[in-house]
Amino acid sequence: MKIALFGGTFDPIHRGHIEVARAAQQQIGLDRILFVPANVPPHKAEKPRASFFDRYAMVVLATMQEKAFVPSLLEAPAEGPVPAAAAKKSSNPLSAPRNYSIDTVRRFKQTLKQSDRLFFLTGIDAFKDIAKWRDPEALLQECEFIVASRPGFSLADVANALPAGIRPPAAAIKPFAKQEASGPLVLRGATIHLLANVHQPASATAVRQAVAGKKSANRFLDPAVADYIRKKGLYK
Ligand code: ATP
Repeated sequence: MKIALFGGTFDPIHRGHIEVARAAQQQIGLDRILFVPANVPPHKAEKPRASFFDRYAMVVLATMQEKAFVPSLLEAPAEGPVPAAAAKKSSNPLSAPRNYSIDTVRRFKQTLKQSDRLFFLTGIDAFKDIAKWRDPEALLQECEFIVASRPGFSLADVANALPAGIRPPAAAIKPFAKQEASGPLVLRGATIHLLANVHQPASATAVRQAVAGKKSANRFLDPAVADYIRKKGLYK
């Protein structure tokens, strides 16, 4: 089976996420896509606005109609109090330990069969910081990446984002500065599939801003998610 992990804050999940997952499913022929809300996202300066449980509930609602889309608790908060050692490592002693993709991927791989092929699905705006993720070279070796492009990003942006150890030399990247990021990019130590056809302008920031400003965010949301946000009074 071809299986992808789609990690995100999903604060809240919106049509952009669903479009990315659909494009990946069609272009790569994925059998399953696990939507993995992060408890404490390592790459974002701000904490999520909604609790992990609300974000997970919205992921369940938004993925209900799609057979291959599966909500995942791989990065759920640990039950019980945060261990003292983990709390000490964090800059905020009361916060939970952060989720690192390399740990999630390695943990999940232990549950897979030899014949399974694992992918990591992400948007290009998250991927452009991959060199700052924990153990990026190991992560790129553990699984193939699927990166959803957004207008304005080139193939050179993707190559430049790679960690130094596998990044092609600058002179080799330069000619691709104007080439749309699409197709497979196979390097020693990384295989990256680029999805060019996702042009969904939705973002979680736009949803939160609309709700806070008492404007409708319905065009970005699954109706069940919009209902949930109203019922729970989220993002006011
Ligand atoms: P925020 O606006 O709070 O930064 P977001 O809308 O980017 O959030 P995340 O949960 O952070 O949502 O996104 C998870 C992944 O989905 C990221 O890799 C992000 O790049 C990607 N993504 C989100 N929206 C889109 C979109 N409209 N098109 C392509 N990729 C997207």
